Amino acid sequence: MPITYTAFKGSPSGTIQEETVCHRDLQHDEVLVRITHSGVCGTDEHTRHTHRTLGHEGVGVIEKVGSEVVGFAPVGIGYVRGGCGACKECRLGYNFYCVTKPNNYGFDKGDEDVATWASHAVLPTIRLAKIPDAIPSEYAGPLMCAGQTVWLPFARTDIRPWHTVGILGIGGLGHLAIQFASKMGCNVVVFSGSESKRAEAKKLGANKFYTAEDLEKEDMPKGFVDHLLVTTSQMPDWKVYHSVLANRAYIYPLTISTDDFKMNQFSMIQKEITVRVLCASTIVQVNEMLGFAARHEIRPIIEEFPMTLEGINEAMGKLAAGKMRYRGVLKV
Ligand SMILES: [Zn+2]
Ligand SMILES: [Zn+2]
Repeated sequence: MPITYTAFKGSPSGTIQEETVCHRDLQHDEVLVRITHSGVCGTDEHTRHTHRTLGHEGVGVIEKVGSEVVGFAPVGIGYVRGGCGACKECRLGYNFYCVTKPNNYGFDKGDEDVATWASHAVLPTIRLAKIPDAIPSEYAGPLMCAGQTVWLPFARTDIRPWHTVGILGIGGLGHLAIQFASKMGCNVVVFSGSESKRAEAKKLGANKFYTAEDLEKEDMPKGFVDHLLVTTSQMPDWKVYHSVLANRAYIYPLTISTDDFKMNQFSMIQKEITVRVLCASTIVQVNEMLGFAARHEIRPIIEEFPMTLEGINEAMGKLAAGKMRYRGVLKV
C-alpha cells in the first residue's frame, strides 16, 4: 500500500508549497517516521529552489516498520539519509560518500520527497540517530545538522582540552560550537562582528570575546588560536585573522559556500597553517555527539514556529535577515 503524507516542497521560483505526497510502501529495512519537529538551516535556503521536500534536522517517532526492522523512538534525521550499506564508504560509516546509493539532503538525487518539513518520512534505519531521553525533541532537531556539523572537528581531529579553540561567528552553528568546545574543556575564544553578542557568548562558555574592531587594536593578542572553527556563511578576510592563528593552526570551514577559499600561500607557509574541511560523520559519531550533549546539557537556543506554510515562510524570512536567535524549529 502506498503511503501518503503532507510535505513542504521547494520550487524553481523559491516559493514553498504544501503538497500531498504519495510514496511507495516500506521496504524491508525502512521505517515510517511521524515527524514532530524540524530545524531550519541555511542549506534549506539553497534547496528551496528545487522541487524537493525540504528540511533535514528532524525528530520524530516511528509509526510503522519494515519486516526486518527493530524500532526505537524518538529518532533523529540529519542530512545523510541513507546509503547502500555495502560499499567501502558505507562500511566505514561514511554513508555520505556512498558509491552506489548516495542519499544526502541538498547534495544528491535520491528520494526527493523524503525530508523533515513534512508530516512523515520513509527512511532506512542505517542513518537514524537515537535521541537520548534527556534531550527534548525541539532541542534535538538542530543537533541533527548544526550539532553534528560543529561536532566534526572534535570527533575527527586532534583537538585537546588544553588547546585554544576559536569560534568565528555566533549563529545557528557557532552558538553550539561554543558549548561543545567549552564542555570539552578547551580555552574558547569567540570572534563576532557584533558587540551585542558578548554577554551571550560568555554565558555559552566563551573565555574570551573579540569583535572585528578589537582585531585591529595594537594590544590585540597574536598567534594564540590552535583551531579556528569558521561558522559564518561567508569566509572572513584572512589577512585580518592570520595574526591570531598560532603556528601549525588548523582552520575548519564548516558552512556550505560556493566561493573560493582565498588565503595567501606565503602566509600559510609562515605558520604551517592547515585548512581541514570536514563534512561527513558516521552515525556512531552522531550518537556520541547526542550522548555528550545530553550529559553536558548542551542545548541549542531555539525559536519555535508552527510547521505550516506561514510558519515556514516566517522562519525562512527571519533566517535570511540574520535575525534568528539562534535556530528556528518547526513544530508539527
Ligand atoms: Zn543543515
Ligand atoms: Zn554505500
